[in-house]
Amino acid sequence: MVFARGVRKSFGTLEVLKSIDIDVPKASVACIIGPSGSGKSTFLRCINHLEEVNGGVLLVDGEFVGYDLRDGKLYEVKDSLLCRRRADIGMVFQSFNLFSHMTALENLIEAPMMVKGLSRREATEKAHVLLERVGLGGKADNYPRQLSGGQQQRVAIARALAMNPKVLLFDEPTSALDPELVGEVLQVMRDLAESGMTMVVVTHEIGFAREVGDQLIFMDQGVVVERGTPREMIANPQSPRTQEFLSRVL
Ligand code: ADP
Ligand code: MG
Repeated sequence: MVFARGVRKSFGTLEVLKSIDIDVPKASVACIIGPSGSGKSTFLRCINHLEEVNGGVLLVDGEFVGYDLRDGKLYEVKDSLLCRRRADIGMVFQSFNLFSHMTALENLIEAPMMVKGLSRREATEKAHVLLERVGLGGKADNYPRQLSGGQQQRVAIARALAMNPKVLLFDEPTSALDPELVGEVLQVMRDLAESGMTMVVVTHEIGFAREVGDQLIFMDQGVVVERGTPREMIANPQSPRTQEFLSRVL
């Protein structure tokens, strides 16, 4: 579902991604860990077309996000095509990013109506089903400020699901939450994984990575230092950098 080979990204002279190779098969969960500044968010943003890659091959469901044309030109897509492709990729951010002037329900129906052309009635029916699914059936008419952080993040997940994404990207989805609210969000993510959603999850929740992840990827300074099955890698990290990082977060 996500295929990356030699993906590079720089901001000016700062090389943030230095040749990233990643494979995320359909219906699997890849967890990415690594120190702050290692390029995890930038990689997710490249997958989601929020950043243009400077080189390498990056495909989502066989569709091309960017590659090295070798003639110095960057890949460009027409806005409408970019919009359609981006709609296939859901993203959940650390800071929820809900529309604050809209209720939970309105947050869920906006994009399906505007981007996918659903009628208000179709979008609303679907939104109610999704709010039930994340345990917020009774909160449709609440504004974000009337919800806890955990509830807001569950609305954000439901909002991403409302677009029927092929893959869901999570960028530290529980890092901004009070500790007692982390579990409810992880539970929704666990249910999604079990339902067969393809997920790429940047997280510091090692327990989640161990239980739910099909693969664990450790990034540091713009490279993938180590990857493997979560249990093996957590129990027996090979690289000294992975060992040192895990010893700090476990
Ligand atoms: P992580 O998510 O692993 O903490 P990021 O991908 O956010 O790392 O950042 C990697 C590096 O790229 C950092 O040094 C950060 O300052 C830099 N960076 C990220 N976005 C930009 C940007 N838009 N412009 C310039 N530098 C950026
Ligand atoms: Mg980040």
